[in-house]
Amino acid sequence: MFKVFLALRKGISVLPECANSLHTSIVQNNYRFKEKALQILNDSQIDSTRKIESLKTVLNLKNDSPAFKIAFENGKAELVTEFMKKKNETSNVSDAEMLIYLRYVPKYLDVVDQKLVTTFIDRILGMEFVPDSALYDVIHGLSGTKEWQKGISLYNQLKNPSKNCLENLIIASVNSWDFDTCFRLLKQLCISYSTISDHILETLVESKVFETLNKTGKYHLKLFISLLAENEIYPSNNVTKKLERQLVSNGYTVNRFLFKRHGKCPKCSTQFQVQTPLTFREYSRLKGAVMKNVLVGNDVFQRSTPEEVEDFKIFIKDRAPFDVIIDGLNVLYISGIRVDQSIKYRKLLSLIQQLKEENKKVLLIGRKHMENGLRNINVSKYCHLYLVNNDSEDDPFMIYSSLMSGPDCYVATRDFLRNHMFNLKDPELKEFFVRWRKTRQLKNFVIENDKICYLPPVKEDRVAQFSENLESVHIPYEDGKARPIIDPPKTWLCAKRITS
Ligand SMILES: [Zn+2]
Repeated sequence: MFKVFLALRKGISVLPECANSLHTSIVQNNYRFKEKALQILNDSQIDSTRKIESLKTVLNLKNDSPAFKIAFENGKAELVTEFMKKKNETSNVSDAEMLIYLRYVPKYLDVVDQKLVTTFIDRILGMEFVPDSALYDVIHGLSGTKEWQKGISLYNQLKNPSKNCLENLIIASVNSWDFDTCFRLLKQLCISYSTISDHILETLVESKVFETLNKTGKYHLKLFISLLAENEIYPSNNVTKKLERQLVSNGYTVNRFLFKRHGKCPKCSTQFQVQTPLTFREYSRLKGAVMKNVLVGNDVFQRSTPEEVEDFKIFIKDRAPFDVIIDGLNVLYISGIRVDQSIKYRKLLSLIQQLKEENKKVLLIGRKHMENGLRNINVSKYCHLYLVNNDSEDDPFMIYSSLMSGPDCYVATRDFLRNHMFNLKDPELKEFFVRWRKTRQLKNFVIENDKICYLPPVKEDRVAQFSENLESVHIPYEDGKARPIIDPPKTWLCAKRITS
């Protein structure tokens, strides 16, 4: 049994990951090799066995699996299937070969041989030890069979879950029209990875899910829009075009518009949802969790020394609460990278002076290398100042000082502060963090002459939303143009149900 274990480990871990990927990338990136490989693969005079053998000889491959991979990568799934069927009948298919075959099942759903797939899955799962790397391929394989749901329990057993596996299971659920499972898995995807790939959204939207917006269809559409909103996901224009078709066939009028700073949709006059600040109870829960899991945990302040963290905590204890915390380095660069240093500092000072005139108590968090520049503008006259070590990450310092200052404190930065959200595993806490960030982050600035002025946070919630009973649907989407990651897209879809 020990021999089997060793052979399996050797076969699985060494072959596909090293030899295959090396050979495949050489073939794909080397014009001469690629030409030769394609010539063999497209030769109608020779059968699948000779094609694989020729590939091995010409490319100096030691076994079949890299040849399969090259064939798959060049769209020749039928060839591999034909070869595999013959080999399976006459000799042993190796573990590495079976895994390669299973790996490509999601890409070639209509071409792979179902009997081979289930045979290979059973053989791999029948082994005494199956590492995660092999389970990934088994899940890929399962996602192309009627037994795709078995893949969900395998996925939940993985030590290192793979996004790719979960995505393939979601596609399988869509293809099986099991939309309840689909949305459950999409939620799981968002909790683990905070995003949904565009090809998943496209597959879902063009499926039967929203074909008829009856009671179930409406329920799923609400779930879909809520997922986009909660995770600040902005689908591509392609996705919205497909959704538009579904909505129009269900009696909606669809328009597109550019978002401006006002409270109503310019097309249908629906009032946009307003950002809701955290209640005291929600804020207290968030603060407790952030302090416990994010700031005091192992991975926060990780680039700071314990002395620096202690020093900062004493500093805050003595001086908090603040009205505004400024991310000094981030605001400095709002003026532009090429702008003269002294001008950048003067503009930063103008923002601090504006806040001081509004009677705001300000804490400026900068880096030690900014000391001279800040001294030159005499910044300490207008605000409190703390300089963190040049190597330290400054986000935790800002989040800590803001939370210690209470729910009314603002943080002035164009940074996303998003990494810290991922340390909060509870979806409700994640939502609190997003709402806190949206309502307490100053990220919109206007540069006028020698000044930087801040704009208050936009009141409207710039995420996908629907009105009661789905009378109207509004979705911000990517129009393909580059935009700062901090700002949601300006392009929106408006869908309004026509009432007679
Ligand atoms: Zn509208």
